[in-house]
Amino acid sequence: MRSAEVIVVGGGPAGSAAARALVRSGAEVLVLDRERFPRHKLCAGWITPEVLTDLELDPADYPHGFLSFRRLHFHLKSLHLPVAALQHSIRRFEFDAWLLERSGAPSLQHNVRHIERDGDGFVIDEEFRCRYLIGAGGTSCPVQRALFRESAPRVRALQTVTLELEFEHDWQDPDCHLWFFEAGLPGYSWYVPKARGWLNIGIGAMARRLKDRGEDLHQHWERLRSRLERRLRIRVPDEPGGYSYYVRGPVETVRSGGAFLTGDAAGLATRDLCEGIGPAIRSGQRAADAIVHGSDFDLHAVTGASLGGGLMTRWMDWAFTRGAH
Ligand SMILES: Cc1cc2nc3c(=O)[nH]c(=O)nc-3n(C[C@H](O)[C@H](O)[C@H](O)COP(=O)(O)OP(=O)(O)OC[C@H]3O[C@@H](n4cnc5c(N)ncnc54)[C@H](O)[C@@H]3O)c2cc1C
Repeated sequence: MRSAEVIVVGGGPAGSAAARALVRSGAEVLVLDRERFPRHKLCAGWITPEVLTDLELDPADYPHGFLSFRRLHFHLKSLHLPVAALQHSIRRFEFDAWLLERSGAPSLQHNVRHIERDGDGFVIDEEFRCRYLIGAGGTSCPVQRALFRESAPRVRALQTVTLELEFEHDWQDPDCHLWFFEAGLPGYSWYVPKARGWLNIGIGAMARRLKDRGEDLHQHWERLRSRLERRLRIRVPDEPGGYSYYVRGPVETVRSGGAFLTGDAAGLATRDLCEGIGPAIRSGQRAADAIVHGSDFDLHAVTGASLGGGLMTRWMDWAFTRGAH
């Protein structure tokens, strides 16, 4: 049986942020991920300035493609609102592998299936033992299933569904575009250019409201695809991939003894723009702080709003979820 003081399940942004903070504090950490990195992760890869600050990341030191937009373009029916805002994009295929390596933590490819408490620690698949366990395994995190199913249940009304495709494309427009509520979609679609000639397009919506409308996301994808082809001359070369995750619910702490939930495992994406990378990183760092310094693990420092939490956030949240909590 291999032992470590802390085992982190999942090597995405939440897991690698936690691992890096723990390694820096001298803790003994092991990261388990079922995938071999670099691995494909469906995500538009938009990151905020807060992410760079939290990661202490200077874009000049980042060895892969990194693009900054000067404007975000919000589209609502015929309304077009360009907002001056410095935001960034990366490719998750590159970013996640780089973050995990930068954490300095050893990692193993292992699909975690079974977790049980053992005294004041945990045993995983009868192969690994730890005192502290960080669940950073995304939507299907086995730590959430084994230890938090009742205290931090999934709230169906807060589930998103997405379709997305990233492909090489010689884009001309270097800004990010978001189209809200087209044809009644309870969500939005996006165009996110990336450095070195990559483009990410996709569509996301609240699963239950979509179902209530008797619709399938693929119908909306077809609409997006034909609009991009007709208006922007972007030929979409392939079929999209699908993924589901949860936006922030009412739970304010996701800790049970020595076990913590972070990122998508805890359902922390923002309720207005469904941004999950920043909350994943911040919550991973907070879990590490709680282990190292004995501080509280609460989610107050992890934002639930991308648009500042004011009127715009509240309206967007309402428009997506119709107030479901
Ligand atoms: C289509 C789409 C577009 C998005 N666009 C954006 C965006 O532009 N900006 C943004 O901020 N957010 C975006 N998000 C949300 C964002 O991708 C997530 O919130 C973020 O990846 C969460 O990070 P995480 O570390 O919690 O989980 P993940 O990144 O999902 O990492 C979890 C890791 O756990 C591993 N794992 C899972 N199960 C096991 C197991 N049983 N054993 C071992 N390992 C396991 C997985 O292999 C994975 O590597 C998007 C999401 C989708 C689906």
